[in-house]
Amino acid sequence: MAVVARSASPRADARYERVSKTIQPEPVAFADSHVHLASAAFTDDVEAAIERARAAGARALVCIGESAAAAERARVIAGRHPDLVSHTCGVHPHDAASWDEVRDPEAIRLAVSLGAVAVGECGLDYHYDHAPRVVQRRTLDAQLDLAAELDRPIVLHTREAEDDTLDMLRQAASAGIRGVLHCFTGSVALAEAGLAAGWHVSFSGIVTFRNWTDLALLTCVPDERLLVESDAPYLAPVPHRGKRNESSWVPFTLQRLAEVRGTTTDALADITLRNTQRFFRLPGA
Ligand SMILES: [Zn+2]
Ligand SMILES: [Zn+2]
Repeated sequence: MAVVARSASPRADARYERVSKTIQPEPVAFADSHVHLASAAFTDDVEAAIERARAAGARALVCIGESAAAAERARVIAGRHPDLVSHTCGVHPHDAASWDEVRDPEAIRLAVSLGAVAVGECGLDYHYDHAPRVVQRRTLDAQLDLAAELDRPIVLHTREAEDDTLDMLRQAASAGIRGVLHCFTGSVALAEAGLAAGWHVSFSGIVTFRNWTDLALLTCVPDERLLVESDAPYLAPVPHRGKRNESSWVPFTLQRLAEVRGTTTDALADITLRNTQRFFRLPGA
């Protein structure tokens, strides 16, 4: 009975309305530089998720193909939204052991010929170690060569692999390969090495978590090299932490970054949108 009485109270309902409205920030034109819309987590409602992102102000969504199969799904999704969604193609370090030195380069070349804007995500993940490290490095090297051959940037995943990532950045810089350290949670030193190599750094909703304390990392990246991303369906920002993530919540991450960097959400959204368009050479760049 108490439940009925509470829901019948107009004051309680008004309070609930206010709370639910604050759960999405004001619309602001922004980009999501890294989203897995081709993931099984979006099978049922990918179109609704894209429309929510659009309503929240998204102007560019980079849909990551982290395998040849995901890249093909990403290409189809992007094809339905040519004004908003672009796609990439690569092989994730978790799947490095499945790399085939004939089939996979051909798949990436084909994807790029069909419009993929970057090679990746690829990289090194020594936290999970799903593939032997030597195999992860070899698979990454092959994709760096493809990025150079195809003149596309690299989307790099790096976790607990700082020494090998530093080596890779030096090689990439001398070969003129551009890239982004995506969902970056490494050290300031590694971010600075990336910046010195001419790379971009992208932050995700992790920076909104209460246990995120490395504010120096969030300020060491100059405006012109900064990207933001959802990495959805993973890593939903506060106040949605723990839920399936989606691009429409990137403004929460922008809000937090703006606060730490002493600017406004609007200004940072605009900067990172233009950086995303330029970095991936999207239409409108
Ligand atoms: Zn990743
Ligand atoms: Zn990813």
